[in-house]
Amino acid sequence: MYKYCLECDWYASTDAGQTPREVSEDAIDHFVETGHAVDSIRLPPPIVLQN
Ligand SMILES: [Zn+2]
Repeated sequence: MYKYCLECDWYASTDAGQTPREVSEDAIDHFVETGHAVDSIRLPPPIVLQN
């Protein structure tokens, strides 16, 4: 899971070691604190090379 701010450089990602729940809570906190709109994308699954 990856969430990012549409108005500044803020983001949160499970790649940084947070759980999806923590990412969601951080996104809500950012919105509450700044009023910025936070969007999320689902990263595609890793591409497996097929030889
Ligand atoms: Zn922001």
